[in-house]
Amino acid sequence: MGITKSVQKLVAYTPGEQPKCRGVVKLNTNENPYPPSPKCLEVLRNFDLEYLRKYPDPVFIKLREAIAKRFKTTIEKVFVGNGSDEILALAAKAFVENDESIGSLDPSYSLYKTLADIRDVPWGGFDLASLSRTSRAARTSSPSLFLLTNPNAPTGMMKGPSEIEDFAAKFKGVVIVDEAYADFASENCMHLATKEGNENLIVMRTFSKSFSLAGLRVGYCVGPEKLIEAMYKVKDSYNVDALAQAIALVAFKDYSYMRSNVKKVVAEREKLTAALVSRGWDVLPSETNFIFAKPPEGQNAADIFAALKEKKIFVRYFPGPKTGERLRITIGTPEQMAKLIKALSSFH
Ligand code: PMP
Repeated sequence: MGITKSVQKLVAYTPGEQPKCRGVVKLNTNENPYPPSPKCLEVLRNFDLEYLRKYPDPVFIKLREAIAKRFKTTIEKVFVGNGSDEILALAAKAFVENDESIGSLDPSYSLYKTLADIRDVPWGGFDLASLSRTSRAARTSSPSLFLLTNPNAPTGMMKGPSEIEDFAAKFKGVVIVDEAYADFASENCMHLATKEGNENLIVMRTFSKSFSLAGLRVGYCVGPEKLIEAMYKVKDSYNVDALAQAIALVAFKDYSYMRSNVKKVVAEREKLTAALVSRGWDVLPSETNFIFAKPPEGQNAADIFAALKEKKIFVRYFPGPKTGERLRITIGTPEQMAKLIKALSSFH
């Protein structure tokens, strides 16, 4: 009673487990193992309570100015959300009619399908090449919003900017390139988002991974003014709180600190990949802060997931035909990776 039919049948998104017990090696939600910029702590220590008494800047001008400056664009092309998850939900509101649909790669970030279910519109999994080849007539039934994780999750693999640009040029709806992991990659698409003539491509990033601020809940996106303006129309008045705006701003300005942590994570990613490959694992080439790895013949991903959990090492397992043979392992500190390798070696 009272609850809409679509919500009654909705299967909610399940985020990765946040274990409460101590001594856990947490490699299951792609958080950064290193702390955020020390400048964030200064902001917290000196935060004037007056800024909590009053409402925050509804359009986060200072943060937008910093983002616009870094990417050599204007604040009209920048939007900030309560985590990039909020931006995705707002896009599903602003860019999809009730009789349209949402598309993404498959496998990809599983929240996308849940967002379509919440909107009560169909979701479809595609590969870019086949969608681009579809004839114009058939494309009337193609999605009006494409959520394109690049590099992808959980595979960790990426498509080059020229392939993304070609795809967006042929696509009739809005393309959001979800670059949650792009700071760990060798290339990215931000230049496409700010490019003259771009009308349908938005690039989205988050403070949760490379900036080590998953608990703060700040994400941002850059794209054509018309689309960005639409997102401002549908957002809550005060979607990013005062403390989050202040902390995200200093973290963003401390870009070199973020880059140095990224370097450490990338080095560890390459070390872990080599270590697993030498033990017979198949590891997809990753451009992110995680790897998607298949155990050697005779070993089973689900069993290893459970056995690691017994040892308080949390990784992520996605059952299903496209993902069930592999484990997604977040890159941690050298100490955490050593514990992982030691535990894996004990299963032989
Ligand atoms: N996109 C992808 C591909 C992700 O993996 C995540 C994190 N689960 C997000 C977006 C959301 O990140 P956040 O809401 O923390 O910014």
